[in-house]
Amino acid sequence: MEEELVKIKDEYRKQLQHLVSETEIYQFKSRYIGRNGSITHLIKELKNVSPEKRASLGKKVNTLKKDIESSVDEALKRSRELKKKQKILEQELDVTLPGRKSPLGSKHPVTVITDKIVGIFSSLGFEIIEGPEVELDFFNFEALNIPKDHPARDMHDTFYISDEVLLRTHTSPVQIRTMQKTSPPLRIICPGKVYRCDSDVSHTPMFHQLEGLMIDEDISMADLKGVLTILIQQIFDNDTLIRFRPSFFPFTEPSAEVDIQCVMCRGNGCRVCSSTGWLEILGCGMVHPEVFKNVGYDPDKISGFAFGLGIERIAMLKFSINDIRLFFENDLRFLSQF
Ligand SMILES: [Zn+2]
Repeated sequence: MEEELVKIKDEYRKQLQHLVSETEIYQFKSRYIGRNGSITHLIKELKNVSPEKRASLGKKVNTLKKDIESSVDEALKRSRELKKKQKILEQELDVTLPGRKSPLGSKHPVTVITDKIVGIFSSLGFEIIEGPEVELDFFNFEALNIPKDHPARDMHDTFYISDEVLLRTHTSPVQIRTMQKTSPPLRIICPGKVYRCDSDVSHTPMFHQLEGLMIDEDISMADLKGVLTILIQQIFDNDTLIRFRPSFFPFTEPSAEVDIQCVMCRGNGCRVCSSTGWLEILGCGMVHPEVFKNVGYDPDKISGFAFGLGIERIAMLKFSINDIRLFFENDLRFLSQF
């Protein structure tokens, strides 16, 4: 029996080193101190040992049993801690992994050009003003020197809501509203949507305009040309040429249309510029004295220039887009290019 004890002692210590999982530890436990375990068996055998040896042998068996029990407890503790650590390691975030990118949209070309122009005029000290899209006939036409029977009204293809209410056909009414409220000097731009009953490759019923107005003492055509040159050269190219052509608008006198050197052929003549080398880009002029009178300004004391341009027209030239309707079809293949 003594031999048996020594053998178990050696054996269990060796086995102990290899125990990892809780299942293994419980199997180990039952192998020695379970109901059919070898130590349990030895304890049962004690009754057959001679009385003089029984006491000392019993003590040894009990010590061994206690050793095994505490070894099992320790092994279980170790195993549980190891499991916990592994779990923490598994759940740990790897902050060096690249994140998932959410798809980003892009700016609409009309917004790109509007932002660009607004940026240029902000740097020149112009204020950005907006106004209503549903407008009174007075602000859209009358105050701009276009009375009811004026032939210029035919050019506007107006959407009328009632006799006196309409969708604004240009951003010029914002000038009138601003001048009525503010005394000169004035430097403003008015970007916004305008509406005309027209639709083909170069017209849509809704499009975007940007109006500019500068009023002070002694403002001249030279100031207008200076400001427009800065505008055109910053949008297109530093050496883009511009030219003024005489024109007519009821609200400016004199009036001019501005051409830029064709951005496609650099003035050599191509299909886009109909071989002229020039592209019409905006209308402008010196504010008509009648307009000043309509808002209570004294045309003898102040002067000013105004201009208006179509944002889509600029965007089409800037990005070589040949159909204005592309701007409003919301085709992602088109929009994602900007
Ligand atoms: Zn050309």
